[in-house]
Amino acid sequence: MSDSKEEQTNGFVQWRHAPARLWLYCPLCRESLSNQIWDGQERRYCAHCGFVYWERALPAAAVLVFEPTRQEILLVTRRYPPFAGGLTFPGGGIEIGESVAQAAVREVQEETGVLVSLDHQFGTWSTPDNHTIITFYQAHPIDGEIRAGSDALEAGFYHWDNAPSLAFSLHDRVLQLFRAKMRMMNLGTQP
Ligand SMILES: [Zn+2]
Repeated sequence: MSDSKEEQTNGFVQWRHAPARLWLYCPLCRESLSNQIWDGQERRYCAHCGFVYWERALPAAAVLVFEPTRQEILLVTRRYPPFAGGLTFPGGGIEIGESVAQAAVREVQEETGVLVSLDHQFGTWSTPDNHTIITFYQAHPIDGEIRAGSDALEAGFYHWDNAPSLAFSLHDRVLQLFRAKMRMMNLGTQP
C-alpha cells in the first residue's frame, strides 16, 4: 500500500467517525461553530442558527458465525486502521433505517460473502473507549461462497478452540465467552 493510499484510507476512516472537535462550521448555515455547555457537557454549537452537534456513541453489530459440522468460526482480517491486519469477527456500523439484526447479517455478507441466519444475541457492550456500542450475535452459515469484501482483507474459518487472539479486546472477550460455553456443552455430552 503506497503512502498516498494510506493517507486516503486514514482520511476515509476519520471521516466516518469525525469527532466533535473537528467540526468547524455549521452544516446548516455555514457559520463558525463555538463551544457551549448543553446538558452538562461542552458541545459544538452554532450561535447563528442554534444548531447543536450532539456527539453520540456509534451503534454497531458483530457476528460470531459458527459452522457446527467443522466446528469452525468465521473471522476477517481488517483492511483499515485501527489494527489493520488484525483478526476480528465480521461486523460494522448500523445504517440509518436498518435494524441491528439486519446490520449484522449485511455486514457478514459484505465482508465475507457468507449469508447467515442469526441464532441469538450474546449481549451488548461498549468498547473500552466508550465510543462504540456493539451488539454481538451468534449465527450459522446458510448460503454463499467465502470471499473477502469491503472492510476485510481476508475472510476465513478457524477452529473455535485454536483461533488466534482477536484485535479488539471486546471481540476477544466475546470469543472467550463462546469458548467457555462450548467447553461447558462438551462437558455435558461426556459420560
Ligand atoms: Zn448554523
